[in-house]
Amino acid sequence: MSDVMKRASDYMKRGAKLTSETCPVCGYMLLEMEGRKVCPQCDKEVIVAKTREEYVEASSRIVLTRLREVLLENISNLTGEGPVPLENEEALDLLDRYVSILEKLEGLLSDKRTPHVRGK
Ligand SMILES: [Zn+2]
Repeated sequence: MSDVMKRASDYMKRGAKLTSETCPVCGYMLLEMEGRKVCPQCDKEVIVAKTREEYVEASSRIVLTRLREVLLENISNLTGEGPVPLENEEALDLLDRYVSILEKLEGLLSDKRTPHVRGK
């Protein structure tokens, strides 16, 4: 059995169902599991958007979520070796910047709509 078939049957065992849609990347049939569509060939979650807006919304969410992960990792690296010394202005500046970006990100992610520049 090929890797793809094996992966597909693993997904099916976990309750995934076959769909009539195909992967936009490789053209393989998509499986649906818990409302999420996965491609057993790419072994990735696939977002099927009905409209351009939906696509933009979904992809910006993924990008923002990834960015948040990176930021949290950076923050944890910065503070990983104990408290940041207050005289270390460089580290504090960096931390301040990370936290403020994170704050904006949380705002965007909690917003149901597509992130966009406001107040212009
Ligand atoms: Zn695929």
